Amino acid sequence: MAEHTAGSSPPVVLSIAGYDPSSGAGITADIKTIAAHKCYGVTCITSLTVQSTRGVRAVEPLEGRIISETLEELHSDFEIAAIKVGMLGSAEAARAVAAFLKRNQPRNVVLDPVLKSSSGADLISSEGLQILKQRLIAMALVITPNAAEAAALTGMSTATLDETEAAARQLRRAGARNVVITGGHLDPPRDVLSLESHQALITLTGEKILSRSTHGTGCAFSTALACRLALGKNVLEAAKHAKNYVESALKKAPALGRGVGPVI
Ligand code: PLP
Repeated sequence: MAEHTAGSSPPVVLSIAGYDPSSGAGITADIKTIAAHKCYGVTCITSLTVQSTRGVRAVEPLEGRIISETLEELHSDFEIAAIKVGMLGSAEAARAVAAFLKRNQPRNVVLDPVLKSSSGADLISSEGLQILKQRLIAMALVITPNAAEAAALTGMSTATLDETEAAARQLRRAGARNVVITGGHLDPPRDVLSLESHQALITLTGEKILSRSTHGTGCAFSTALACRLALGKNVLEAAKHAKNYVESALKKAPALGRGVGPVI
């Protein structure tokens, strides 16, 4: 009988995020993005949510101990090439993730500072937000807030391009190594980047795509960026790619569910 020869191992990407049972955002959406990049996805759930395309109904954080044990178990088994940190939910989850990152100093950590769902539900507690600001931001290689998240993190307005640039600089001063403020909701869509490799700020302008299926665009962006880092690209290349990936996902997104459909 012919023996199978092993294929070359794909880079392993870890998603630490919430569980959205409708697979528009969170862990199960991230697995789709990771697979589309030909990487292998492993996951650590921080919070369960009850939600659909119609919005978030409930958030149920997991115990910090389970999160810590899951992260250590995965870290001791796999060589992890990149990590995406998304919804944390609670202070306990934020603490468990911060302790894991401090202990193991993994490379290529992308932090998507998820604060609220588009439907308005809080996806992190106020104590969790303090831990995110005081500890997690400085431990990430890249942070990917949207304009509203950048405003909440800095206390600054991000209504104009000038204000968004000022917020990006402020996040760098607050300890972030690389900042990508996503502005997919703007017309034209515009991401503002402040990177350690470039003195000047960089603006990436995209194509406006009108779609009803925008649930999970932030998750897809940060995870696509993490995958590109895992595949050896630098932060600027990875951010450009993530923007193109979300744009083409929006163009292809099927109309699913009765609310805001999943982007992929
Ligand atoms: N649910 C989970 C688990 C998430 O991680 C996120 C965002 O990252 C959301 C919901 C919110 O997604 P949306 O802004 O598309 O409502």
